[in-house]
Amino acid sequence: MEFVFYGGANEIGGNKISLSVSKTNLFLDFGEPFDRGKGIYSGLEFVSPRDKLGLKDYFEFDLLPKLKGLYSKKILTFTDLKYKKPEYDAILISHIHSDHFGDVSFIDNNIPIYIGYGANKLNKLFNEIYYNYKIDISENKIIEVRTGEQYKINNIKVIPIHTDHSIPGAYGYILITDEGNIAYTGDYRFHGFKPDMTYDFIKESKKHKIKVLITEGTRIKNEEDKIFKEQITEADVENRFYETIKNSDGITFVQFSFRNIDRVRSLYNAVKKAGKVLVASPGFLYTIDNAIELIKDLPNIKNNPNIKTFKKNADIPEGKTRIREYAKEYLKKSVDYKWVKKNLKDVVMFLSVSELSQMIDIKPQKGTFIFSMSEHYLEGDGNEEYKECLENWIKHFGLEFIQIHCSGHSDEKGIKELIEAIEPEIVIPVHTESAVRFKEFWEKVIVPERGKSIMV
Ligand SMILES: [Zn+2]
Ligand SMILES: [Zn+2]
Repeated sequence: MEFVFYGGANEIGGNKISLSVSKTNLFLDFGEPFDRGKGIYSGLEFVSPRDKLGLKDYFEFDLLPKLKGLYSKKILTFTDLKYKKPEYDAILISHIHSDHFGDVSFIDNNIPIYIGYGANKLNKLFNEIYYNYKIDISENKIIEVRTGEQYKINNIKVIPIHTDHSIPGAYGYILITDEGNIAYTGDYRFHGFKPDMTYDFIKESKKHKIKVLITEGTRIKNEEDKIFKEQITEADVENRFYETIKNSDGITFVQFSFRNIDRVRSLYNAVKKAGKVLVASPGFLYTIDNAIELIKDLPNIKNNPNIKTFKKNADIPEGKTRIREYAKEYLKKSVDYKWVKKNLKDVVMFLSVSELSQMIDIKPQKGTFIFSMSEHYLEGDGNEEYKECLENWIKHFGLEFIQIHCSGHSDEKGIKELIEAIEPEIVIPVHTESAVRFKEFWEKVIVPERGKSIMV
């Protein structure tokens, strides 16, 4: 069997692993790297790949692998790569974070894409809500997978098993082949609400003598990082939310990506327990409403005394703001900044980055701002300016800043346990900057290099 890591090799994210085994070619994830265009586009404010020209600019700077029989005819029109009939049998998607899924829409429509049932549903939902970022696979051939089912790709048996991660619908894959069995973890953790799902993946892997285990290792490098050193669970996040909200001397703002629906659940539980009201945008509430069948214990939105829809731009005359179709229903019963101003101490307001201006209308003079995302967003490359701006807003409105967050990824101990339990012949670390460190805790480790073939 042959692996080529076109992304995810000694980098966090961007997983794009080609696998040729038993006369079958497939990809494990087809993600977009976090640092795409670094050194080419990143410092040029108004220049980006010209999407109207398909993959032309991407190929020029090697931002995507130039492989035949993989991409759609349309997207190759302006490139010097000639369209060829599919030479790949499947793309297996672990979950819909962009670093695993972001480049999928470039794939030839005739190549089947395997994706979790819930993940596909959520992706459609997010495509409706987000203005600027969509991954549209509605034209592609989709095979929705579920735990407990098995699938055949030529003579390979594919067993998808759910894992616990910071977005619903995350899967690992076990491939049973006549050249040996392969397990691919995707992203996983043991400290969310559903660690059992990750244990299910381990349990199933143990049943099939695994030759090659490809495991993520995001947090292997991060020992010096205090938030990672301190093992915080999603349950701790909920408790800290509660304490902070209860003790806030004014309004509480909370910021995170509501793709992390487990976090929405933690926030709601905390708000309810503190006897306060969660105020959020129609998009946020629409997402919860539609995710109810996928995640246990999400609140009902309608007629819930602890939830209110926030109507922004309340001073702008009707007709001058664009209102999305799905939002209309929620806005029928909504509150605006004047209501929030009157009820500051009772309000917990979800505020995404694009909604910060609402603070100008609300004009809080004290209160708390909870930042519930990874410090990557504050301290990562190129984010210094974001951090400075956010700090200035928070200071300007007299708020106290607090970070409450737990990672979507397992700590080192959990990763070791997973490897030891599965007992593979070979480990290939992916989604980590410290693949070499895996050699400290497993005998046979292959460190992948971007674009280089690994024959096993
Ligand atoms: Zn990832
Ligand atoms: Zn992820």
